[in-house]
Amino acid sequence: MKSLWETDPEVALAVENEALREELSIILIASENYASEAVLQAQASVMTNKYAEGYPGRRYYGGCSYVDTVEKLAINRGKELFGAEHINVQPNAGTAANMAVYFSVLNPGDTILSMNLSHGGHLSHGAMVSFSGKFYKTFFYGVSKETGRIDYDEVEYLAKKYRPKLIIAGASSYSRIIDFKRFKEIADLVGAYFMADIAHIAGLVAAGIHPSPIPYADFVTGTTHKTLRGPRGGFVMCKSKFAKTIDQAVFPGLQGGPLMHVIAAKAVAFKEAMSEKFKKYQYQIVKNAQTLADSLKEKGFKIISEGTDNHLFLVDLTEKDITGKEAEIALDNAGITVNKNVIPYDEKPPTITSGIRIGTPIVTTRGMKEKEMKQIAFFIAKIINNLGEEEVYNEVLEKVKKLCLSFPVYHNQIRKERLDNDLKQIAVRL
Ligand SMILES: *Cc1c(COP(=O)(O)O)cnc(C)c1O
Repeated sequence: MKSLWETDPEVALAVENEALREELSIILIASENYASEAVLQAQASVMTNKYAEGYPGRRYYGGCSYVDTVEKLAINRGKELFGAEHINVQPNAGTAANMAVYFSVLNPGDTILSMNLSHGGHLSHGAMVSFSGKFYKTFFYGVSKETGRIDYDEVEYLAKKYRPKLIIAGASSYSRIIDFKRFKEIADLVGAYFMADIAHIAGLVAAGIHPSPIPYADFVTGTTHKTLRGPRGGFVMCKSKFAKTIDQAVFPGLQGGPLMHVIAAKAVAFKEAMSEKFKKYQYQIVKNAQTLADSLKEKGFKIISEGTDNHLFLVDLTEKDITGKEAEIALDNAGITVNKNVIPYDEKPPTITSGIRIGTPIVTTRGMKEKEMKQIAFFIAKIINNLGEEEVYNEVLEKVKKLCLSFPVYHNQIRKERLDNDLKQIAVRL
């Protein structure tokens, strides 16, 4: 068969350029990671060819024995990893996993209580622009203005006031431990179902670094591609009594044929996540996030809630008199990738924002530790304090590339001659 380079050089080049970008920039996007070679191999396999509607042992197609093997492995490992009674590994994304929960216990028009999007919640938790806000009536809790932490008394007050059918805990930009036990107590007070969305913190939960919601939640949804460091995808776990309704909600409720190549890669990721090495990795992610936050604080940056317990934090740029958008663009010029992010009580719109979100899963995967975090804090401060100064951008860019070259990731994804040439050119300029 012809290779990708022979068949479609345009796509092949874009893929290679992406590998080079990932190799040569400091990526601080909190929701991204570098999947392992093993995960990439499983995901790029012939299992993409197979139709397997249904579940292992009960499929609508013949020829499913090998895809059954990988889905059973993913299920058994996922259950063991999180200590779950039931897991469905078919959701194509975190949003689909959440949808499966809503479809299994809610009717259109039912009420949800979840975290405010602008305080760190997720679109799929009832934002008006999402199906979840259109189908269900949503009320939101947030963080306190003083502490930047979830106000659990407010959650209880709102739960009693609106009597939701489902309460959701979980966030995309919240840097503190989430008290799942308290959420469960509040849900019980008003007879609501309780769902924990661990999309961001799945790796930390698997490693025992963030307390697990499994003992408390009726449903736990997550993604495999964030801290868990697997393929892009979702999963949903639940108590046994909801197993059947969840499975039916995923298929045929909202998806057709499952992505068996991705499920194979999920099995690999779960296996990797059971290792001691993975635990150490998760521990280092948090240490790195704390070191980076502390170093930025020392340089005069304001951190929402004053710090972090997990893999990410928000920087409030209001006092620096620069917007999140400007910071994102400036840092990008110097090979540092972050995302602009609204901060709680932000006065600027989501397209501009007053903050940036910073996460350490990726830089930790490439082996960076506290020393490098201090360097990165220095780079960030240098750029933001010298906005628009091309010379400073270039100076930092060279240092960023040099740092990246000492922490290689996917060298084998890049053609050898390209790697030699491009990296040599960069090395010469350094
Ligand atoms: C990322 C995320 C999701 C959704 O993940 P997708 O795979 O992008 O659909 C859901 N919930 C939370 C809290 C997230 O951070």
